[in-house]
Amino acid sequence: MSKDYLLYGRDLIFREVHSAIQLTDRELTSVNQRPAISRINGRYRCERCGAAVRTKKPYPCICGGNCLYCSDCLILGKVRACDTLITLEEPNLFAPVHPASLRWIGCLSEEQRNASIEISRTIHANEERVVWAVTGAGKTEMLFEGVGKALDANKRVCIATPRVDVCLELAPRLRQAFPDTSLAVLYGSAEEKYTYTQLVIATTHQLLRFKEAFDVLIIDEIDAFPFYLNDMLYYAAAKAIKQQSSTIYLTATPDRLLKKRIKAKKIKASILPARYHGHPLPVPSLARLSSHASLKKIDSNCYQHMQELLNQKKRFLVFIPTIQLMEDVMKKLVILFSQFSFDSVHSKDSQRKEKVSKMRLGQYDFLVTTTILERGVTLSGIDVIVLMAEHRVYTEAALVQIAGRAGRSKEYPNGEVTFYCTNLTRGIKGAVREIKEMNRLASRKGLLK
Ligand SMILES: [Zn+2]
Ligand SMILES: [Zn+2]
Repeated sequence: MSKDYLLYGRDLIFREVHSAIQLTDRELTSVNQRPAISRINGRYRCERCGAAVRTKKPYPCICGGNCLYCSDCLILGKVRACDTLITLEEPNLFAPVHPASLRWIGCLSEEQRNASIEISRTIHANEERVVWAVTGAGKTEMLFEGVGKALDANKRVCIATPRVDVCLELAPRLRQAFPDTSLAVLYGSAEEKYTYTQLVIATTHQLLRFKEAFDVLIIDEIDAFPFYLNDMLYYAAAKAIKQQSSTIYLTATPDRLLKKRIKAKKIKASILPARYHGHPLPVPSLARLSSHASLKKIDSNCYQHMQELLNQKKRFLVFIPTIQLMEDVMKKLVILFSQFSFDSVHSKDSQRKEKVSKMRLGQYDFLVTTTILERGVTLSGIDVIVLMAEHRVYTEAALVQIAGRAGRSKEYPNGEVTFYCTNLTRGIKGAVREIKEMNRLASRKGLLK
């Protein structure tokens, strides 16, 4: 494959590219170059991530001089003032797939089908749309039609999501739906993984490495960390799309600002208040904890609740706000539930993929987790317990997402969700209100069984 393919629609630091693939003088004259750090009205800005350069004084640099660098996008490799960013215009050189890219044969509910049509039209018209779909609405399937048509029209399509776990879960489903379309899954910092493909699944950070590459950009979980309130990633999204392009935002829990824009009809929206199986969202029950702050002192109600679930052979997730607290609780759990099979998982756990898949395969009776399993991960037939739901990590959106882990499958649509808390926070009240509101809307629209 010619070197050009590695540069089409990319936005890369010349020094890094050149050390990996030597570019000849002739090749260099054909690439577009611009300074990686620009100076506008006396202020320095990183052109890769859009952030104002925060380093106050130049540092001794590998170029031999003293240079400023960007500290905001360090995770993708250092951008220095002496760097240039290089790119080649995206030419959409893709082999057509006959007779059509999409091979998925599945059924959409009427609600999904309507949203699917709206998404297709939005993509065709190069417009923007928000898809506000409750957890378990089946939003990936609603994208297939629109993505398929875009691919058949020789468009380049990217699906970006803030979480690696979501990337990994999306990849096999898209590979199955579009088996003959070239697909790359980009996450982490390893540049050598990159190949030129028509379909790209990437973490939102990886978008920073693209420039005017995509005709269609779909951003999943726009409300999730780190996309929420993150200027850098909005800059990345705006940079990664072509001037003529379509952007689809997916969310189960839009923030207040986005809800306002939807209500004021400032952005087109498809709202799906019901799950694909037509059962209402499980409404969380609230259980007060008497003791405060220390999980070691949690009254026995919660442990009793767990024992009852285990007796009934029900499987469940236990959410705990921090790794430290989780370790404390685990010490107690291994004594109380020694005859059962369970484990704990958190963001820094190298075994996390294996543990989630063990839970999925039914090899655990329960799994204790931090918010890492808050979204994106679908396990069927489980109940959910949240400990210390008043903790500040549990925003309204986080709690709606966590509650949304229950009742996902047709076989067990009425999973139970319990929030254990010492006091009611805005997040807890807001989450319960939001879930009830979506159920009411679904019922009014006649979408519930
Ligand atoms: Zn930067
Ligand atoms: Zn330098």
